[in-house]
Amino acid sequence: MKKRWTVLLLAAMMLTACAGKTIEVLNAIPTEKIEGSTLYVKKVENLPDGFIMGMDASSVIAEEQSGVKYYNFAGEEQDVFKTLAENGITHIRVRVWNNPYDAEGHGYGGGNSDVEKAVEIGKRATKYGMKLIVDFHYSDFWADPGKQMVPLAWKDMDIDKKTDALFAFTRDALKEMKREGVAVGMVQLGNETNGAMCGESDFQKIAKLMQAGSKAVRKVYPDALVAVHFANPEKADAYNGYASKLDIYKVDYDVFASSYYPFWHGTLENLSDVLSGVADRYGKKVMVMETSYPYTGEDTDFSGNTISDSTANIVKDYPFTVQGQANNVRNVIDAVAHTKNGIGVVYWEGTWITVGTSSRAENQLKWETYGSGWATSYGGSYDPKDAGKYYGGCAVDNQAMFDATGHPLESLRVWNLVRYGNEVEPTVDAIRDTDLEFDLKGTIALPETVNAVLTSNELAQVPVEWNVTEADIARMHEGGTKTYKITGVAAGLPAAGTVSMVKFNYVKNPGFEDGSLDPWQTEDRGGADQLYIENKLTDSLNGTYHMHFWSAAKDSVDFSLFQEIGDLPAGTYTFTISIMGGDAGDAEIFCYALVDGVETGRTPMKITSYGNWDTQTVEGIKVAAGQTVTVGISVKCSGAGSGAWGKIDDGLLNRQD
Ligand code: CA
Repeated sequence: MKKRWTVLLLAAMMLTACAGKTIEVLNAIPTEKIEGSTLYVKKVENLPDGFIMGMDASSVIAEEQSGVKYYNFAGEEQDVFKTLAENGITHIRVRVWNNPYDAEGHGYGGGNSDVEKAVEIGKRATKYGMKLIVDFHYSDFWADPGKQMVPLAWKDMDIDKKTDALFAFTRDALKEMKREGVAVGMVQLGNETNGAMCGESDFQKIAKLMQAGSKAVRKVYPDALVAVHFANPEKADAYNGYASKLDIYKVDYDVFASSYYPFWHGTLENLSDVLSGVADRYGKKVMVMETSYPYTGEDTDFSGNTISDSTANIVKDYPFTVQGQANNVRNVIDAVAHTKNGIGVVYWEGTWITVGTSSRAENQLKWETYGSGWATSYGGSYDPKDAGKYYGGCAVDNQAMFDATGHPLESLRVWNLVRYGNEVEPTVDAIRDTDLEFDLKGTIALPETVNAVLTSNELAQVPVEWNVTEADIARMHEGGTKTYKITGVAAGLPAAGTVSMVKFNYVKNPGFEDGSLDPWQTEDRGGADQLYIENKLTDSLNGTYHMHFWSAAKDSVDFSLFQEIGDLPAGTYTFTISIMGGDAGDAEIFCYALVDGVETGRTPMKITSYGNWDTQTVEGIKVAAGQTVTVGISVKCSGAGSGAWGKIDDGLLNRQD
């Protein structure tokens, strides 16, 4: 009895201690459709009312300190948090680093995102009716799948001490938010913690730390959701693995969140599948905690961007346009809304734009002073390998939802319009690049239409005017095998393409690199022991495949390998093929060509020893329109010793004139 009174008394004291300031909420989030937008937005059906429309705005304070001004759609300077709320953002996400400052107090950059900044951002978000998602990195600087460095102050702690420290840090940071009246809706235990967090990589220890964080959240903000956050949904079974470990080690959390950057992270179908799996098996809520997409390929702050027009080996689901950016957001929302227990989508750093001066040097001064770039030179003291080498400005300014002057892009309205749909007449949004290949001896006929991407992200053919003269065409004909850049105009937009002049090879699967014989054929007159396509780099002339033959019995190597080719432009052709091998004995080997079944030429070939390829050509193969050409090689060997053997590779049918 006495004990219970003590508990109640403590609880009452805690409530008093936690009761903080009250922020007057100016509820600016619209509950109706914003009219008059030119943005094409297909409605997401059955979108729940409480669906989280989030924006990570961690850099805003450092940006403002650097002189950045933000505007509303009317062109008036306005608190960026008000503008976000007015366009349907319901949650603001903010990252928290333990201590992103060196011993002299110089910030590491990336917004110098400490607890103080998070409280400030939280207060402004709360004022406009939005809730805060607190993203504890449990590091002094960036934590992601590439690095999860321990905060300097916790460096020498064993796991028990570190667990206590993490609990206290989380509790105190949240208490500070509570005192200031911040509406916290969700708290993350680490950021993209793919198998590591806070300097630990043993999942049992990670789970212990996460559980301490969770306990602190439940204590200070009992109504807030507790989230874990991972990246790389495209890695098979990874999410199931994390969720299973969280279950085994009994981490108390509500939301399993994922990053989803479409250029790296697989398809939306896959994302939905893996998140559904976690929702199904463990009953958790799921969401996308980070996504973004470029509205332009251009850089605006003299510090190179993660994704640009020239970024190699990425998936471009949408053009790099304002509409393309909105289409990505709309489709990610659609995917999450239709995933079991899907609760929301957060955009990453849509307010992080250039600090706006006209030179790298001036920008650099601001990045160093206010931490408005991704890292300052001081960051090198904590993270010498990355920040220490590559410190600079913003690498995602082309993925913001505000332009370089702080004005909102039309795409910002997607957060509101997605609830209602805004299916305006689709127009041409971008022209896809056109890649053309012509035979050096053939005709160069540039296409009259090109592929356009509509605002609805559908494709259409539109007429194009190429800026290519007859003199340019003549130069391409005479310039040998070479690639040319061409430009033009289609639907009022720039069109671009490449013309590759090649010695066109009309043989299909010429070096067997499809891994099969097709559409080559064989006629095996001698019944060889071995006659097949082989995958062996060292025995191929080019690539890794070739045709292999061997046979023990005398005269059993006697076959033809050939391909029939129709639909050729009328003209004169050459056929070339290569062979190597040995132990031929008496041999009759030749390459040949038939036109409509009539032989027009043959050239003798020979096999001598391993690695000595014999390449021969049949010239002057005259083909009229509609005729079919058969090209091939005939191999007949009596065999010597252990039987004739050999390799055949690379058939080439080229225009001679
Ligand atoms: Ca940049």
